[in-house]
Amino acid sequence: MRLILLGPPGAGKGTQATTIATEFNIPHISTGDIFRYNIKEGTELGKKAKSFMDQGLLVPDELVVEIVEDRLKKEDCENGFLLDGFPRTVPQAEALDEVMDKMNVALNKVINIQVDKEILVERAVGRRICKGCGATYHIKFNPSSTIDQCDKCGGSLYQRDDDNEATVTRRIDVYLNETMPLIEYYEKRGKLTAIDGQQHIDKVAEDIISMLRSGK
Ligand code: ADP
Ligand code: ADP
Ligand code: ZN
Repeated sequence: MRLILLGPPGAGKGTQATTIATEFNIPHISTGDIFRYNIKEGTELGKKAKSFMDQGLLVPDELVVEIVEDRLKKEDCENGFLLDGFPRTVPQAEALDEVMDKMNVALNKVINIQVDKEILVERAVGRRICKGCGATYHIKFNPSSTIDQCDKCGGSLYQRDDDNEATVTRRIDVYLNETMPLIEYYEKRGKLTAIDGQQHIDKVAEDIISMLRSGK
């Protein structure tokens, strides 16, 4: 299964990606996670990406495309992959088409998680992430059982630097301007399926999995 998760910041891409990746036994590839890892490790890539991310802007296409291309060539992607947060611009989508053509593989589905703009800010600002295992929580909608501590590994929870109201608002605008055109891009190619992302986390997962299993 070769899948893309599309949706605005806070839509629930990362949350759903964990479930889908486990269900279909495919690697979850999040470009945001790759950048955050590089920032933490202090790499050149991390240094270049950080200023864009802190401002809520997109990292330039040429930096992103190269890391995704390298990642897709790894052995664990042979039977499929789940892209989360990539592509985010039309040039990225075109580059991905080229890379997949060269690899002689085709995309199965683009899953568009739909959530109203008003809800997104509250979701992103209340997001907390585990330092140990990367699990995602929400202070109100999906809290851990002990405050600031991960249920899965006991790690401490943190808030992303870019999950403040001003930066989230900017990221949503960037999504509307630069990423929304991908909906039409994939619709035209017959790849797009919309999912109602405003339901309970488990129901969203159920809808996605049954859609993928039925192939509709
Ligand atoms: P994205 O990767 O699209 O930015 P996340 O999966 O990180 O989104 O989710 C953003 C925040 O919203 C997280 O705190 C997550 O726990 C919460 N969340 C995700 N899905 C739902 C949902 N269906 N209902 C309520 N909160 C959700
Ligand atoms: P969210 O799921 O909340 O939208 P991500 O973790 O996917 O956030 O992305 C965080 C930031 O990383 C983005 O605001 C952007 O600066 C950068 N980023 C991630 N993926 C891409 C991409 N495909 N193209 C450009 N920038 C990206
Ligand atoms: Zn954890």
